[in-house]
Amino acid sequence: MRRDDLIQHTSARRLLEIRALNLDFGTPRGRMHALRDVSLDVPAAQVIGVVGESGSGKSTLAYTVMGLLPENADVTSGSILFEGKDLLKMPTQARREVLGDRLSMIFQDPMTALNPVRTIGNQMIDIQHHEQVSRSEKRTRALEMLHRVGIPDPQIRIGAYPHHFSGGMRQRVCIAMALLVKPALLVADEPTTALDATLEVQIIHLLKDLQKEIGCSILFVSHHLGAVAELCDRVAVMYAGEVVEQGAVRDIFHNPAHPYTRALLECDPGRIKKSTRTLPTIPGEVPSLLGNSKGCIFRTRCPQAFNRCLQENPVEYRIGLDQVARCHLLDEERLVSA
Ligand code: SF4
Repeated sequence: MRRDDLIQHTSARRLLEIRALNLDFGTPRGRMHALRDVSLDVPAAQVIGVVGESGSGKSTLAYTVMGLLPENADVTSGSILFEGKDLLKMPTQARREVLGDRLSMIFQDPMTALNPVRTIGNQMIDIQHHEQVSRSEKRTRALEMLHRVGIPDPQIRIGAYPHHFSGGMRQRVCIAMALLVKPALLVADEPTTALDATLEVQIIHLLKDLQKEIGCSILFVSHHLGAVAELCDRVAVMYAGEVVEQGAVRDIFHNPAHPYTRALLECDPGRIKKSTRTLPTIPGEVPSLLGNSKGCIFRTRCPQAFNRCLQENPVEYRIGLDQVARCHLLDEERLVSA
């Protein structure tokens, strides 16, 4: 890792601090451990990516930060400090005030995120309910933001309903709404998954420009490594509810230390140089998260697993100055915690 990156990361004020977070879902078959001992920082004005396969817990993490969990979810331990206050201990009303003001979210499916029976304009005015300005001022701000995110003819389109927009345009409207409140942190859950490749690039560039303009942080959840490489400063790799590796994007992509991160990168279509008809996949499946199991969570799919991996869950080991991974293969002298 370069020294300027380290200085930038360590000196940046921590906006969001997730510490030792454990979350279960109650199911008819027993408790499912969806998040296990997750710790992650989002510094001010930085973009942090969270990557992993389906079922890795990355979206559950985003929804936990936003407090948008189903009734069968149970945070069993840990904390989520946002601007120094634990969101998990906040009274409901105080938490509501933070949401939609300091914290906002972009969802995977823009159609379900918008109210189908209200015009875009009315929804954009409603979302500014914290602002002590007139309705016409709110409308003017909405028009400016629609223009900023590239909606053509905003004066006309502000009166349209969500179904009048294409998928890409709807996601632009959602981004406009999320940023209209000038959040300190934007949580984006797979915001480009429903879009084709061209639209994805446009949305990533738009997010990048707006993040710089507004100066907010972004927690960017995606299974698309190319999008993370393009947008993020740092990345956390999740597998089966655990963060198995995290660090600066450049370090993780060029020097992955965890066997799962390496496998994920080897299967990324954007990084495969020779032409092929069959894309490689990681053999095996994400394990069941029901009940307690011994050993490393990746042991059943890891080509380098050895005896210790079956018995003991690895702790975090430091690699270089600012990269950590949970794998017994890493030198025990570099142990961060035990
Ligand atoms: S601890 Fe063992 S099973 Fe887990 S990733 Fe490392 S080598 Fe593989």
